[in-house]
Amino acid sequence: MVGATSAARRLGRAALDLVFPPRCVGCGEGGSFLCDDCVAALPVAAGSRCPRCWQPGSDARLCLDCQAAPPSFDGLRAAFVYERTARDLVHALKYRGMTALASPMGSLLAEAARRHDLEADLVAPVPLSGLRRRLRGYNQAEALARPLAMELQLPLRPRALARRRDTPPQARSADAEARRRNVTDAFVCRDRGVEGRRVLLVDDVTTTGATLAACAVALKAAGAESIWAITFARED
Ligand SMILES: [Zn+2]
Ligand SMILES: [Zn+2]
Repeated sequence: MVGATSAARRLGRAALDLVFPPRCVGCGEGGSFLCDDCVAALPVAAGSRCPRCWQPGSDARLCLDCQAAPPSFDGLRAAFVYERTARDLVHALKYRGMTALASPMGSLLAEAARRHDLEADLVAPVPLSGLRRRLRGYNQAEALARPLAMELQLPLRPRALARRRDTPPQARSADAEARRRNVTDAFVCRDRGVEGRRVLLVDDVTTTGATLAACAVALKAAGAESIWAITFARED
């Protein structure tokens, strides 16, 4: 029965591919949702960055922000800069329902986690508010965390964190302080399983790291030993 179901699902997918053949989100080339050329051209978030918050231009030393007020996570790494195809991918996954992208994007995240030697015992995604999750039908951070956890062979704890209340979406115009106020106390961790464990916290994109820092506060309060955050992209 299981075989018949998956065969039917495969057939359904094949039929869907006929109607909507996969096209690369980056260049429009047919054959896949993300072609090899576009993967190779993705803007890697490299160069001289703050070792803690991954903000560029700090000459590989702790940036002034981190010196003044170190974030509650142990460190943050982003695979790519939030521009060009990296931005298109995040948008397609988040707003266009292209969940098929989660797998190749999750693999790229796993590659970045290995490249930066991020050691962890478990993977936890940044949660969406209940309302937004219902509207979108899925949490894009969880969609990325699933293949990432699988490739790193780590347990995924999709419900480790929860939103305490519905916070308004982060507006680009909001300054850093407003963002911090907005997310402080927004998260809670009721998962006893994080106690004494090293958590790899996952989100699709970060700007100031305020959301990740607020999640880290909740994880630390629940006894997590360390928190490394990883995102697909970072707004430089
Ligand atoms: Zn392409
Ligand atoms: Zn920093």
